[in-house]
Amino acid sequence: MSSSFDVRLESLASKPEAPANARLDAARAPRPNTFYLETFGCQMNAHDSEKVAGVLAGRGYLPVDRPEDAQLVFYNTCSIREKAAQKVFSRLGLFREREGNGQIIGVLGCVAQQEGEEIFERAPWVSLVCGSASYRKLPELLAQLESGNRRVMGLDTDTDETFETELTRRDNPFRAYITIIEGCSKSCAYCVVPFTRGPERSRTSAAVLEEVRRLAGAGYSEIQFLGQTVNSYRDPSPRRMSFAELLVAASGVSGIRRVRFTTSHPSDFNRDIVDAIDSVPALCEHVHLPVQSGSTRILRAMRRTYTREEYLEKVALIRAARRPISISSDIIVGFPGESDEDFAETLSLLDAAQYDSVFAFQFSPRPNTEALSLSGTVREETRAQRLQILQDKQREIQLARNQSLIGLTLEVLVDGAARKAGNWLGRTSSNRMVNFASPEPNLLGQYVSITITSAGPGNLVGIRAASVSG
Ligand code: SAM
Ligand code: SF4
Repeated sequence: MSSSFDVRLESLASKPEAPANARLDAARAPRPNTFYLETFGCQMNAHDSEKVAGVLAGRGYLPVDRPEDAQLVFYNTCSIREKAAQKVFSRLGLFREREGNGQIIGVLGCVAQQEGEEIFERAPWVSLVCGSASYRKLPELLAQLESGNRRVMGLDTDTDETFETELTRRDNPFRAYITIIEGCSKSCAYCVVPFTRGPERSRTSAAVLEEVRRLAGAGYSEIQFLGQTVNSYRDPSPRRMSFAELLVAASGVSGIRRVRFTTSHPSDFNRDIVDAIDSVPALCEHVHLPVQSGSTRILRAMRRTYTREEYLEKVALIRAARRPISISSDIIVGFPGESDEDFAETLSLLDAAQYDSVFAFQFSPRPNTEALSLSGTVREETRAQRLQILQDKQREIQLARNQSLIGLTLEVLVDGAARKAGNWLGRTSSNRMVNFASPEPNLLGQYVSITITSAGPGNLVGIRAASVSG
């Protein structure tokens, strides 16, 4: 990732990742009715894990910090790039020698969906394989395991239901995630998501707003709507609320001070969203609008459904807003057939778009995807060079953009203590991290005003201006 203001993982990722070569303590026996859940990948996965943890808690399981202590060990996996998918198999390898000690090992998420039954072949000590489109079946699958079934599977993708749970364990005390649309019905040539998460399906606006009200009542002041293409939201109820209307309605719920949303697809991004942000202060000044490439030729090959020019028109729409809305993006370098000229167009798009943050990735060929059969493979060395060039350029752009904020006073939600004693971390509405010193014993969860005194490419530094509220 090229930026340190990470819109994907945030502090939510429920557990620090164990190193791949970690050993399990052979002497420790699992404790009954406990679970260990490790999450890989995007915010959608992190939030799915919160719901899975809620289902487990509802059945009387308690979380533990070490896999060797747990009766149930679940890995919620990501297969968006090959490296992410490989990680889970190195984790599973740790349990080879513990087979028969009563632990139940489960693989959830995108790798489960993609590899299916083959996981049992590669790691016969695994008992549960459940793809993300089948989570609503989880209680049923758990009941089967509890009654002694050795192997259970949930691998539907044709479901038109969403994963609703009565209980969701929230891992961040101030910001809560709400999935408003699951799956994806676009067909980008490089992407496994439509295969692993199934087709797009939206929740009703009433169900979403009910969850917002519940969260506000429980003390959450910031909510984030999630979806692979969050702005493709279509209210399935007769109310037919548009995505922009849903944003405005959520912002109006008493107790909610900030509403975010990610990820927006450029083809479904329209003026009504910008107008909503402009007119409702609680809607955050940030849009994550992945472009993937600056070359129309490559965008076509990727099946991204817009041209470079059409994408830049959306950027212009956002930049023309009255509020200073920050824009972040995802970019893939080294897609099959990407020439030096195509890559130069991606670099020139960075100049034109002036992103506030970019997540850049080398193309990774994935099973089932159209890109697997495309010719024009870009050498690994060239991909690595392009990634470096792109990240270096973007770092300079970010530095200049962040430095232009020096002297301004911005409101942050304090959501962490910095490593240095007496220093705090807060997030601006534009999704920038700000480090500031304050002698107060506990600022967590408060909104405070910070005057920016210096800036790096990935964060801002400031001093306390005045308290906005507690
Ligand atoms: N739905 C979002 C969108 O349309 O932009 C993206 C979701 S995907 C989980 C997150 C990012 O991973 C993508 O925007 C893309 O940049 C990257 N990605 C997806 N498939 C990839 C692949 N095969 N190789 C490299 N990066 C990939
Ligand atoms: Fe993948 Fe494209 Fe869907 Fe995003 S819009 S999840 S990149 S298929």
